[in-house]
Amino acid sequence: MCRCFVVPLFHLHRVRVLDMEGALTARDRVGIQDFVLLDAHTSETAFLDNLKKRFSEDLIYTYIGTLLVSVNPYKELDIYSKKQMDIYMGVNFFELPPHIFALADNAYHTMLAEANNHFILISGESGAGKTEASKKILQYYAVSCPSTTLLDNVRDRMLLSNPVLEAFGNSKTLKNDNSSRFGKYMDIQFDIQGDAVGGHILGYLLEKSRVVHQNHRERNFHIFYQLVKGGEEDLLHQLGLESNCQHYSYLVQVWANWCMLGQPLDIQHLLGVIASVLHLGNVQFEPDSKGYATLNNSAELLWVLSPFTVDHAIYARDALAKAIYGRTFTWLVNKINDSMENKDSSCKTVIGLLDIYGFEVFYVNSFEQFCINYCNEKLQQLFIQLTLKSEQEEYEAENIGWEPVQFFNNKIICDLVEEKHRGIISVLDEECLRPGEATDLTFLERLEEKLDSHPHFVTHKLADKKTRKTLERGDFRLLHYAGEVTYCVVGFLSKNNDLLYRNIKDVSLQVSTHVASQFKSSLLGLTDILMSKEPWYVRCLKSNESQQPGQFDDVLVRHQVKYLGLMEHLRVRRAGFAYRCRYDVFLQRYKPLCPATWPYWRGVAAEGVEVLVQHLGYLPDEYKMGRTKIFIRHPRTLFATEDAFERH
Ligand code: ADP
Ligand code: MG
Repeated sequence: MCRCFVVPLFHLHRVRVLDMEGALTARDRVGIQDFVLLDAHTSETAFLDNLKKRFSEDLIYTYIGTLLVSVNPYKELDIYSKKQMDIYMGVNFFELPPHIFALADNAYHTMLAEANNHFILISGESGAGKTEASKKILQYYAVSCPSTTLLDNVRDRMLLSNPVLEAFGNSKTLKNDNSSRFGKYMDIQFDIQGDAVGGHILGYLLEKSRVVHQNHRERNFHIFYQLVKGGEEDLLHQLGLESNCQHYSYLVQVWANWCMLGQPLDIQHLLGVIASVLHLGNVQFEPDSKGYATLNNSAELLWVLSPFTVDHAIYARDALAKAIYGRTFTWLVNKINDSMENKDSSCKTVIGLLDIYGFEVFYVNSFEQFCINYCNEKLQQLFIQLTLKSEQEEYEAENIGWEPVQFFNNKIICDLVEEKHRGIISVLDEECLRPGEATDLTFLERLEEKLDSHPHFVTHKLADKKTRKTLERGDFRLLHYAGEVTYCVVGFLSKNNDLLYRNIKDVSLQVSTHVASQFKSSLLGLTDILMSKEPWYVRCLKSNESQQPGQFDDVLVRHQVKYLGLMEHLRVRRAGFAYRCRYDVFLQRYKPLCPATWPYWRGVAAEGVEVLVQHLGYLPDEYKMGRTKIFIRHPRTLFATEDAFERH
């Protein structure tokens, strides 16, 4: 069954009812709750106006079909209470104002009705409200699903996994005081009755570099502060850390959450590792007479580090700290997964929740943005495939000829990044295999050689030819589906390598493979996971940069609408047939409009509908007759019919 393009008829009633109640002005003021109902050629400006109108009324949610757009209000709204959850429970998607609960509830009920798997993809830039949205969804399931005491445990653990993961994976940044520095995919597993019986988490792209370096006015991961500021004296003494703070509620909280996850013994171990990272950071090096590094305060690691120059020693120290932290995080995720595991394998279906960075465009864009934007490119590709796939399936099931849909397919850009031999990641990996010879700039040269003629790739040399916009020498520009992004190649090789120095590797840690390829394969894994499920989308927008309530920054929101590809979404959803309806339902509603069908149509419903729409003057191009349904191309055709119905 396809939900993507379907707007049931009662949705239209809703709008009509509002009008009939003389609420036209109210409707103008609060805007339209589904963008699909705006004029067919909605401009970006009209799109923004609608969002802004609604935002000023604290209506932060708006649909594009079944996709939910959310604008961060930066203030507590009274719309997430138990009472609100009850209102949305089991109610059809379009019968109530747009809400994250409506989306969660519809995913859940569709899953139960059709016994298939679903996922909810939440995207948006940092601080837009993704993590809050995923928490609201989890809470909704925790409260609204039927419950048995036995399972409350699993449910509590799922909810508790959030604060624990946030302690280790979140940090204060300029954009968000509680910014997740990793992408998260979580499966919530349900049994046949709809009980939540288990959970499983996958983590992506933890920003390990934050362990050793933070930008001005940003912080390290929360756990470091929670430990140092909140650790009890005994514990800190044991770990060899200085205590200089009074609050300890922080650590108590992490501790309590951890214990409730059923892992009380491991915390010592875990905090020990965190302390060791802190110690490592304090290791300083001084050059000896030959310029090699010596340790200022500890000899224990000397044998590892002595052959290095000071710069190399610092690099190696930081690489080790990052690797330890990265592995600890993976270990933590595994432990949480153990605690949420569904032991009796009664799981029937799942709803996956994906909370992942949106497109990132900074003043200077580096390797990290390249990976994140590639990820978004893949997710857009997935959206296209899934939407078209379900459309195609429905058309086939209904015996309607498949009609190509006009929109930009970004496969060409995905290929540009990931294709074997000539894709950017392949070229990068090849360069990384020529240590000593290759540099970031030779990498760029190789790209220029291989991708010279590619329409979505531009460098300094190629810039004039292709876009006439100037580019710095060390940059390349990709024409992503969401817009152009210029990347600076500095650091690409070393970040892709992410290698620990050989000697350190020998100590015990294995060398990781090149991260971009690693990321590529984990993304392909994720794509497979998602491809087999029914999609739901939440797109989060940031209302302003200063995290203030009531401020709607037009330029900032416009930028996100663009980079999240929302107009593109609207176009894809509008392409093909906007509405479809079962013959019997359609006939039942509109039969009064035609003498031949009123009060009864004695033949086959499909034929009655044909007679009816002929009478109404539908042009051949405006609709198609399927096996069980009529397909209508434009909303306006159905609106006209609705108008006729109301005048009748
Ligand atoms: P992201 O995960 O997209 O980086 P978060 O979900 O952490 O962003 O949200 C950042 C902050 O914005 C939150 O800490 C909260 O203060 C505020 N916020 C986000 N969503 C909402 C919401 N629905 N209602 C109120 N405040 C919100
Ligand atoms: Mg987040």
